[in-house]
Amino acid sequence: MSTTTPATPAIQDSTVSTTSDTEAEPLIGTIREGARGQYWVETTHGLLLCTLRGKLRKNLLYAISPNLRHKARRANVKSRDPISPGDRVRIVDQGDGRGTIEEILPRTGGAFTRDAVEGPRLAGQVTTVSGIDQVIAVFAARNPAPHLRLLDRLLVLVEAQSLGAIICLNKVDLGLDDVLLERLAVYRALGYPVVLASADDGTGCDELRLHLAGRTSALLGPSGVGKSSLLNALQPELALRVSEISQATSKGRHTTTGTRVVPLLGSDGNTEGYVADTAGIRAMALGGAAAGKLDWCFRKFRPFLGNCRHRDCGHRHEPNCAVRHAVEAGTIDQERYESYCRLYDQGAADAGRAWRDLVSSRSLVREGEFRL
Ligand code: GDP
Ligand code: ZN
Repeated sequence: MSTTTPATPAIQDSTVSTTSDTEAEPLIGTIREGARGQYWVETTHGLLLCTLRGKLRKNLLYAISPNLRHKARRANVKSRDPISPGDRVRIVDQGDGRGTIEEILPRTGGAFTRDAVEGPRLAGQVTTVSGIDQVIAVFAARNPAPHLRLLDRLLVLVEAQSLGAIICLNKVDLGLDDVLLERLAVYRALGYPVVLASADDGTGCDELRLHLAGRTSALLGPSGVGKSSLLNALQPELALRVSEISQATSKGRHTTTGTRVVPLLGSDGNTEGYVADTAGIRAMALGGAAAGKLDWCFRKFRPFLGNCRHRDCGHRHEPNCAVRHAVEAGTIDQERYESYCRLYDQGAADAGRAWRDLVSSRSLVREGEFRL
């Protein structure tokens, strides 16, 4: 399998050798799938089944995330996995299609979480995919009707994690009305690329492919909008590759995590980008410094922040609010402001819980589905 990619270069530095095996060559790879000590890692040597160095495994239970230590105390440590699909690791190829993970490289992109599955008492979330660069927010022109409040919620999560976002409106073969086109123009003006697509007739698929190139993307959106159909349109053998991995994995120990990072191959067989298989992803973690700044997550608000009379202005009913003045002046889109208000009020209504907790988990209805 040829999977040369700038995302997984072999380490050139020959001094980074931690094993006595002179055959072994350190490699950087990306976790494709796996859990609890066994992982499929995509490398320039192909897909390797890797185990974790014992010493590392012990340390890693606490070292990955600044939040993990706290959560791990509340939960059963052994049920947490130190590594998620999408993580980049340094490994040593042991030959025979096997390798050892020597080091987990620091996470850069965003991380997705799902609710802990161990039991209802454990409200903590488990990171299931990390290293995401961008979200492809998928909606349908019709069947189901586009849900723009949900889009606004996704964009908040995207901004809070400093990810890129592409809006993909699928099923345009079913027709597009002017009202929707007008709404989409608002998002284009905010700087979010909007791709009009149809998995059925291939419209927009080349454009989408360009956006996916060189990135690790997650396709998110309500069920039925055509996420799997789009992936199949982009790469017909993708479904097959996913099932191959599942089969190969089932030969190993119990390793299924429910999420995978799948390479999209170009016509030359090289990896063009990665797509997170988002089945089972129920929420996105809000990490980083922006987590508490709902207003900042609305791009058009930013120039006005700091100009309100109250320093902690919530931009709702406070007097002399620069954001509200901008809404009244038409500089900030009214609908976007209403989305902000909904999210703000949900957070405020639940004292003791940050709005970000609500955004990240509460309103998720079913696996893979979101509701505002
Ligand atoms: P997912 O739940 O988001 O993965 O959606 P699916 O890919 O399973 O698609 C849901 C339904 O929409 C299926 O019946 C598809 O055949 C249909 N569908 C997907 N893409 C298109 C499209 O571009 N045009 C039309 N007309 N139907 C589509
Ligand atoms: Zn204000």
